Amino acid sequence: MARIYGIETEYGLAHTADPDGRRIGPEEIARHLFRPIVEWGRSSNVFLPNGSRLYLDVGSHPEYATAECDDLSDLLAQDRAGEALMVDLLGQAQTALEDEGIGGRVHMVKNNTDAAGNSYGSHENFLIRRTLDFNRLTTVLLPFLVSRQLLVGAGAIIPSRSSFSPDEESDRSEMMFGLSARSDVMWEGLSSATTRSRPIINARDEPHADAEKYRRLHVIVGDSSMSTATSALKLGSAILMLDLIEQGARIPENGLRHPVRDIRLVARDLTGTVVLERTDGTTTTPLGLLADYRDRAQRIVDNGDHSLGDEKLAGYVIDLWTRMLTAVESQDFSTVDTEIDWVMKRALIERSMQRGISDITDARIHRLDIAYHDITPATGLFPKLEAAGMAKNLVPAEAATRAKDVPPATTRAAVRGEFIRAAHDARRDYTVDWVHLRLNDESGRAVALKDPFATTHPQAETLIAGL
Ligand code: ATP
Ligand code: MG
Ligand code: MG
Repeated sequence: MARIYGIETEYGLAHTADPDGRRIGPEEIARHLFRPIVEWGRSSNVFLPNGSRLYLDVGSHPEYATAECDDLSDLLAQDRAGEALMVDLLGQAQTALEDEGIGGRVHMVKNNTDAAGNSYGSHENFLIRRTLDFNRLTTVLLPFLVSRQLLVGAGAIIPSRSSFSPDEESDRSEMMFGLSARSDVMWEGLSSATTRSRPIINARDEPHADAEKYRRLHVIVGDSSMSTATSALKLGSAILMLDLIEQGARIPENGLRHPVRDIRLVARDLTGTVVLERTDGTTTTPLGLLADYRDRAQRIVDNGDHSLGDEKLAGYVIDLWTRMLTAVESQDFSTVDTEIDWVMKRALIERSMQRGISDITDARIHRLDIAYHDITPATGLFPKLEAAGMAKNLVPAEAATRAKDVPPATTRAAVRGEFIRAAHDARRDYTVDWVHLRLNDESGRAVALKDPFATTHPQAETLIAGL
C-alpha cells in the first residue's frame, strides 16, 4: 500500500520587550521574519528547494507545509526541518531587531491558541482514492478523530464545562487541564467551511493531483505536536485508519450521535471512560474505540500491509499506541512520560503546583504552557527536555538538517525541489504550486505533475535541462 501525506503547521509569534524598550506586535515580527524569504523568492509565499511551502498566513501566523511524503519517517523529518527553518529565520529577525535598536526577544510557538483566543495549529493531508465512498470514510473516521486526542492531545487549560453551541460562550469561571483546546472550536462533523463553523473533517475537494483518481483528505482537528513521538502516533494512527478503511475493514459504521458534544467531553476526560452514544443507541468509550482500532491496526502492521513506509516506525506506532492505552487504563503514565505531549505538559504543571501554585489559571502556569510550545532555543522548554533526555526524539538532528535542503526522494517533491533549485540558481523567473512548474518567460513552458507518487517526469526533466 502506498499513500501520500503532508502536514501544515502554523506558528505563533510574540515579542518580549526590554524593560525600557518598545514592544512590537506579530505583524512587525512577521515582516522581519520573512525579509530573508522575500529577498530569496520575491514573495512571502514560496516553495523551497526541499519541496515544502513556506508562507505567511492570516493573523501573522507563519506557516510551513511539508512536501509530500510517502514514508512516516520522512514526514517527521520534514516537519522538524520546518521548525529548524523557523528557528533560523527567528535568529535572523532577532539580530535585525537588535540592529534597529528595538531589542527584546522574539519568540515563536508551535501551539494551538493565540493570546486573542484564536485557534490555529496543524492541518493533516492524506491522499485517498477517489473510488472510496467519502461518506462512509467520514462516518468511520469521525469517532476515531473524536477519540484520538486521548492519545496525542497537546494538553490545554480549558473551561471545565464547554458550550455545546456556537452561539453560546463557554463559562470560563472554572478551568481544568484537558487534552486539547482544539475540540472547543469544532462545530460540525463534516463541512467545507474552515472558519466560522469549523468541521472536524474538511470536505473541501482540492486534490492537488489527478482528480479522477484521487482526493485529498484535509483534517483540521489535530493539535500541533512538540514531541516527534506524539507526532508519529498522531499521524501514524490516522494513516493506519485510512489503510484499514481502504482495505474494507469492517469497522462499525454506526457513528457517534453527538460528535460535537462528544469531542468536548473526550477533551475533558483523562480516563478515557466517558460514555459516548452511537447512532444505533448502543454506547462506547474513547478507550473502547481506540482499543478496537489498535487491534485492527496491529494486524495490518504485522502483515506489512500499510502505508507508513518504515516498518520499524510502524512497529513503534503500534507499541506506543498500546502503551498509551494501558497507561490511561491504569492511570500510571510512567511508561509514556517522555513521549506524549499532554502527559509531559501535565507533569510540568503538576510539579509547579506542588511548589505552591494553587490555581491552574495562575499566570505562571499560563507561561509554562506557552514555554512548552516555544521553539526558540534560548527560551523554549521542549528543546531543553529533549536535550536532557526527558523527551524522546525520533528525528536525529542530522536528518532534520538534511531535510531543510533535500526533498523526500520517493514522491514528486523530488522533481519540484530539483526544478526550484535549478531555476533559482539560473536566476529564472518561475512559478510553482503543488502540481505545476512554470517558467515565466516568453516560452511560458509549464509542466503538470499530476501523479504525486512519480519521482521522475520526462517533461520536467527537459524543462530543468534547458535552464
Ligand atoms: P491553504 O492552507 O492555503 O488553505 P492547502 O490546504 O492546500 O491550502 P497548503 O498549505 O498549500 O494547504 O499545504 C498542502 C499540504 O498538502 C502539504 O503539506 C502537501 O504536502 C500536502 N499535499 C500536496 N499534495 C497532496 C496530495 N495529492 N495528497 C495529500 N497531500 C498532499
Ligand atoms: Mg496551508
Ligand atoms: Mg490547509
